[in-house]
Amino acid sequence: MKDNAFICPTCHSSGMQIFHEQAAVPTNSCILLKTREEAINCQRGKIALGFCEYCGFISNTAFQAEMTEYSGRYEETQGFSETFSAYHRDLAQRLIDKHGLREKDILEIGCGKGEFLLLLAELGNNRGVGFDPGYQEGRLSGEAIAQVQFVKDFYSQHYADYKADFVCCKMTLEHIHPTASFISNLRRAIGDRLDVLVFFQIPDATRIVRDCAFEDIYYEHCSYFSPGSLARLFRGCGFNVHSLDTEYAGQYLTVEARPAHIAQCAPLPQEDDLWLMSTYSRRFSTTLDGILASWRSFVEAAAWQGKKTVLWGSGSKAVSFLTTVGVADKIDYVVDINPHRHGYFMPATGQRIVPPSFLQDYRPDKVIIMNGIYRDEIARDLGAMGLSPDVVAL
Ligand SMILES: [Zn+2]
Repeated sequence: MKDNAFICPTCHSSGMQIFHEQAAVPTNSCILLKTREEAINCQRGKIALGFCEYCGFISNTAFQAEMTEYSGRYEETQGFSETFSAYHRDLAQRLIDKHGLREKDILEIGCGKGEFLLLLAELGNNRGVGFDPGYQEGRLSGEAIAQVQFVKDFYSQHYADYKADFVCCKMTLEHIHPTASFISNLRRAIGDRLDVLVFFQIPDATRIVRDCAFEDIYYEHCSYFSPGSLARLFRGCGFNVHSLDTEYAGQYLTVEARPAHIAQCAPLPQEDDLWLMSTYSRRFSTTLDGILASWRSFVEAAAWQGKKTVLWGSGSKAVSFLTTVGVADKIDYVVDINPHRHGYFMPATGQRIVPPSFLQDYRPDKVIIMNGIYRDEIARDLGAMGLSPDVVAL
């Protein structure tokens, strides 16, 4: 299917090709919904993923920013997982060691609840300012707390006066639709300070389209980058791209870049992915049909046998699973280790979010975990409660 009306927000070419569409998906998968009625009647929008044959970028061409809400109700942190916390600490330490980030000024765009900025401050004795409309006071503690401050707002050119040696932006760019104007604004804010290091982390779209990781496609994620399209964005906006890496079992893609008056670095080998991304996107729908049918039969077979299935992980991946697979009526509960999510309800499908301890009485037969990287942590928690359900991962 072709539609020449769609302009790529990253390279401004026309003719993004729509390869995946989904109607009536919740537009806010992480906000806390107090009643089942509120959850079932949540606001919905459309996903129409377009692939740009010129730069390899993927955008939800149907995205409307005003349909998303990033507020105090937005509860996304993974910081309650020890697997994630260990990774976070390791990443902070590696960045500090690699770039000599000690007693520096750090600016974090989209800092969430501030855990990573605090780690950078603690481990490198740095000073930091974090921007996020969903930041919540009172959750952080530690010796470095006086070295960090937070602005409950989106980062924009209004804050260009905040100067930093290191600009960090994790798991945020995928939520921004006008990608080139966002990175260009950042470049303008940095100005002539060519020694500033910029670090971005996002989900790697290579894995999402290659493996048909449908759980990673949801409304708030309107922008999807591979190494090639991410590097082309930064270079096109006045940065030299120094490294591109994948992290967290290939789930995350990172870029390190420095501003330049004229971009001089030659493309890195891993940027040569345009043909592959094009191939993956064209076969996406067919592969997805098979994957969804497989999950549907897994959950339906369990239900027919009178067995109870729960999901583990109530964030965006679970919302995608429940609204895409089509078996939400056969799953009554979704487990989460984040206490701030307990007692709330899943958008659109209405399951109650419960703590792991709920399972001691409920005794599920099947647990579908939303991210395989947490398998060992979850299996250990289940074992500690004397439970031994079948555990399968997306
Ligand atoms: Zn493009």
